[in-house]
Parts: sequence; C-alpha cells; structure tokens
Amino acid sequence: LGRHRDDEREAAFTYNGVEFSQDNLHVFAGLCAVDNPQNVERMFQVLQQHGQTCARMGAYKPRTNPYSFQGHGAGCLPYVFELAGKYGIRVIAMEITHDRHIEEIEQALESVGNPTGVMLQIGTRNTQNFELLKAAGRQTRFPILLKRGFGITLEESLNAAEYLATEGNSQVIFCLRGMKTNMGDPHRNFVDFAHVPVVKRLTRMPVCIDPSHSVGSRAASPDRIMDMMHATAQGVISGANMILVDFHPDPKRALVDGPQALTPDEMHQFLEDVAIARDAY
Ligand code: PEP
Repeated sequence: LGRHRDDEREAAFTYNGVEFSQDNLHVFAGLCAVDNPQNVERMFQVLQQHGQTCARMGAYKPRTNPYSFQGHGAGCLPYVFELAGKYGIRVIAMEITHDRHIEEIEQALESVGNPTGVMLQIGTRNTQNFELLKAAGRQTRFPILLKRGFGITLEESLNAAEYLATEGNSQVIFCLRGMKTNMGDPHRNFVDFAHVPVVKRLTRMPVCIDPSHSVGSRAASPDRIMDMMHATAQGVISGANMILVDFHPDPKRALVDGPQALTPDEMHQFLEDVAIARDAY
C-alpha cells in the first residue's frame, strides 16, 4: 500500500462498478445501526433521490456498554441487501468485529442474489486485532475500510493496513475518525483530518474521513449542522476520497449515535457543501 517504496502494486480499484482512488470522492451516508426495514428503506430512498450509489449500514455494533443495543447482526442482512439493490446502492460499508461475519455477509448476499456489494469495515477498536486483520486480508471478494486506531500512532495504524495487504487484499481505504484526548467537549474526539494529505503522501490508499464519529454531534445549535460540516469541509479540502457519515430518518429515535446523525432534510445542504469544499481542493 506504499509503505515500501519498491512495492509497485496499485492501490486504486474498482468494486461493483464504483472506482476508488486517491483522485475521487464518494459519500457513504446511512444508519450507524440498522434498526428496522422501514428506516433502511427510507435511507436508501433518500440517497437514491440525491444520486448516491454508496451507503453505510451497521449490523454488528461494537459497543463500549454491554447493556447498549448490540446491532441486529446477520438477521438484518438479507433485507438490507435486498433494499440496497432496489434503490441502486452498489456498495455498503459494514463493520465486522469477528471473522465469521465475513462468511455471514457472503451467505446473506448469495441468499438474495447479490443485489449489492459490501465494503468490510474494521473499526477503531479493532485496528490492532491482528487475527481479524489477517482474516479480512485473506478474503479478496470485498474491499476493506480500515479505521485509524483512536489511541495509537499513525504509523501503527498504517502498519495495520499492511497486514491486510500482506495477506492478499490491497483494496484498502484508510479512514480517519478522530483521536481520543482528555479534552472532553465540544467534540467527542480530536478531529485529525489534517492527516488526509499525510496519509496520501505516505501511502497509495484512498483516504476516508468520518466526521460523525470524530465530532459526535451534527449541530452547533439545534437547527445548524455547522460542527459536522466544518469538520467535513476540512477533510474534503484536504483531499479526502470518501466520507462516512451517519444519517437517520429520525435521529431522536436512533438506537445508536442519534445526536451525530444527519436528517433527510439536511442531506441536500450537506452534499452541496461537500461539492463546494471539493471544488476548493
Ligand atoms: C462506526 O463507524 O460505526 C464506528 C463504530 O466507528 P469507529 O470504529 O470509528 O468508532
């Protein structure tokens, strides 16, 4: 992926008709956690109306509190994939936390006739779960979105990406999602999007930003999405190639991370601002 200068392998790739490289930009908006088929369908409908062909959908949720909603897991996959196909969604980013989830996703896709594609997401808590990295790297059907570890060095996170490549999968996108600090509010994490050009210089991976998990809230005030948008604009102006963003038809009722989810009414403004920031890059 570029850590070794004599390695000439290509890190740009096309998956299910969507091209990923250090030169383009895709938005993956969607549910942090899949809750019910109605909300999944509503999300895909809105994305289609806005010309989007990618989405995020969380089925296996890694939660810091064991009493919090843990995700519907394999049970929701068939309807998520079928509905994605119905609305022309070609790639869904979906976190996995265990290697058996890869097989479950494969089986669910087959069971409904492969109507869409999946990008396996490895979350910040698993950036150094080396056995999971190796398992994801050994499969070559799905590209991988690897989150930066929130409490380790950039170098260590880039080495995690190399674990995927050395096992055989170099279709990897590297995602910045903020770092833990002891500073507390206003942002849940310290936004690290100034590292977009650094990662692009050090590697050949396309770079994603996740403003939702970095900032932790969509609004500076109830009717403005400024905090979220400032962070997004910073990342896009810095050259980001992908944006992972939480989006829910009714954030107050979201089972996970509602306060950081955009609403359908905000999607138009969000995409417009992304386009302006992209022009400024
Ligand atoms: C997520 O994207 O749903 C998520 C949990 O992100 P992170 O691993 O960055 O916390």
